[in-house]
Amino acid sequence: MQSLSEKQNCEDGSRHDRPDLSMPVQYLKGVGPARAEIFARLGVRTVGHLLEYYPRDWMFMPRAVKINQMRPNETAAVIGLIESTDYQSYRRQPFFEAKISDETGICRIVWFHGGYLRDQLRPGQIIMVSGRAGLYKRQLQMTNPKFVVLDEYHPKSPEYFSGGVYPAAARLSSSQIKRIIRPVLDNLDELVQEFYDKAFRKKTSLISRRDAFAWIHLPPDEKRLAQAKRRLKYDELFLMQLGLALRRFRMKHFSAARPCVCTDEVDSRIRKRFPFLLTEDQNECIGEIAADMGRSEPMNRLLQGDVGSGKTVVALYATLLAVANKGQAAIMAPTEILAGQHFLSIERYLKGSNVRRVLITGGLTGRKRAELLEEIKGGGIDIVVGTVALLQGDVEFQNLGLVVVDEQHKFGVEQRAQLRKQSTPHCLVMTATPIPRTLAMTAFGDLDVSVIKHSPPGRGAIITRWVERSDRAKAYEFIRDRLKAKKQAYFVYPRITGVEQDADVKAATDEWKNLSQNIFPEFKVELLHGRMPSAKKQAVMSEFRKGKIDVLVSTVVVEVGVDVPNATVMVIEGADRFGLAQLHQLRGRIGRGEAKSYCLLLAETDSEIARSRLEMMTRSSDGFEIAEHDLRLRGPGELFSTRQHGLPDLKIANIVDDFDLLAMARRNAFELVGSDPMLTSAEHANIRRALLDKFGDSLGLADVA
Ligand code: ADP
Ligand code: MG
Repeated sequence: MQSLSEKQNCEDGSRHDRPDLSMPVQYLKGVGPARAEIFARLGVRTVGHLLEYYPRDWMFMPRAVKINQMRPNETAAVIGLIESTDYQSYRRQPFFEAKISDETGICRIVWFHGGYLRDQLRPGQIIMVSGRAGLYKRQLQMTNPKFVVLDEYHPKSPEYFSGGVYPAAARLSSSQIKRIIRPVLDNLDELVQEFYDKAFRKKTSLISRRDAFAWIHLPPDEKRLAQAKRRLKYDELFLMQLGLALRRFRMKHFSAARPCVCTDEVDSRIRKRFPFLLTEDQNECIGEIAADMGRSEPMNRLLQGDVGSGKTVVALYATLLAVANKGQAAIMAPTEILAGQHFLSIERYLKGSNVRRVLITGGLTGRKRAELLEEIKGGGIDIVVGTVALLQGDVEFQNLGLVVVDEQHKFGVEQRAQLRKQSTPHCLVMTATPIPRTLAMTAFGDLDVSVIKHSPPGRGAIITRWVERSDRAKAYEFIRDRLKAKKQAYFVYPRITGVEQDADVKAATDEWKNLSQNIFPEFKVELLHGRMPSAKKQAVMSEFRKGKIDVLVSTVVVEVGVDVPNATVMVIEGADRFGLAQLHQLRGRIGRGEAKSYCLLLAETDSEIARSRLEMMTRSSDGFEIAEHDLRLRGPGELFSTRQHGLPDLKIANIVDDFDLLAMARRNAFELVGSDPMLTSAEHANIRRALLDKFGDSLGLADVA
């Protein structure tokens, strides 16, 4: 066995006589401070990280043969002496040729376009080549093989041509990384601990963790490479799911929330507040929420439903249930506009009620703010509406019973944990972004899920059209007719102001002038964007809501939550610049009343993906279908970054492609936490250690040594 480390005595005085995963890579043979720094930039600091620095591609060990054993159409590695070289540059396909010999014969090697080899290969050198043999004019010949010049640094073994191809860095090539990892693999027996017992591995056809690491770096064949990948993907997903399961367990069992009892009397009192009957879906969600809130384990539930499906009403039910049980409720939205919108609809439903409610905005300052905060702290206010800054700032509650977070899909597991810092209220997260099942199991994997599938009745259809430049004038005339019929329109732009580098992209501020002066001078056209002062924004929204503004020109600030049933036209400029989910959100602003609505996507694009997206939008109004399509087009990376969600990075698994493994990992992880919540039993010690490694102390596992 090669010794693993160069220096057995480390700077910090600790000894690494036995290799371990936490040993810094710096002490490995072939790595010094300089390379350690390059490794660090690749995210590799320890031997453990290095083992998880998986190849991006693999090569398989060729058969080593003598020249007279070479057979046409077989792949082999041959070692020979270069007898002569030649470069035929005048050919239509120039090639470089070398004749090599061993004690059994001579063979011709050809590299097409191999001019660069003139400096590398010379007669007298010994080289090893690996490739497929062929016949040329009845002579054996190898074309475009991989090769290496053998010298003191290169072992005379076809193993050189096998193993992983690593993602390389500027001053650290794949083969250098390979040479550093190889000796580490000799110590796998000590380095890698098994997680599961034999019976489980047999049942699930998972190979041992040790073999998985050996074969992922140095696969003997395709089949074993596939087995190695499967095992390592499973482990990665399993640890992630364990993290989620533990977090959920901790929350449920180590914190208590105010149980909110829902009597028939309370129920009917709340329902009287709504001027309509709740839909079947709404009732089902309310049933699930009330059951959760009735317990002292804090609720942690995601309420999912397409835009306009009636989530706000369900959330208000939960809010009033908390208030009926003498708890306070906080309702938080991502923007002030939305918070204001929520407050307004709450006001509408609660007219004449003695439930005390306030809206906290950034505009609220000084004495007034201080007084309000004092009142909230004293329990004198029941419902507080604001942005997510509410719980992060200086607002204190006396007895916070429920937190409602709207449109939280941009937040992750970590941020949700933050929301609970003050106390442990019940928590309801609302999202209008349909969450593909993959994400429901990962980024939202710590939540229970309720879904509103069908919107309330009486909604007009939305017709979506993709409009190209030649039809723009026609589109304006069509919109003019709608405006004349007293309907309102949104115009949404990708930017607030134009930039020179990107003159093609229309910007809200410029187009506002154009629309109000040149296109629709007879109508009232107003501008709304995120950089306007908060009071001005509120004023514009309020005018639009009252129908005093005909056309609202804006950026994506209207993306979420705004509810104006009389607005039946949505024009999205530069629609190819938006993601599908975002387009769907925007479109959800219309179609809220009974009248037919129109969504016009203005875009000029030749990009295949963009065209496919736009066509999808004109074809489908199903948010789930659109979200899955988006996920497939973009890959999970863009929608789902594990780090952003406070989960460890996935190095080998992919939540879309490996969905079956993900589902299995989730099942097993939650089962394990059910039977051994703190992972204290001896058989789970290795798993526990790996978890601590990945998540640190955030799971509270360290508390119980
Ligand atoms: P979301 O929050 O899911 O976007 P809202 O709760 O804001 O949806 O509801 C959208 C619109 O539908 C609102 O105008 C609301 O008054 C109305 N609405 C909600 N539930 C019902 C229902 N059961 N019957 C009729 N209209 C409803
Ligand atoms: Mg809403």
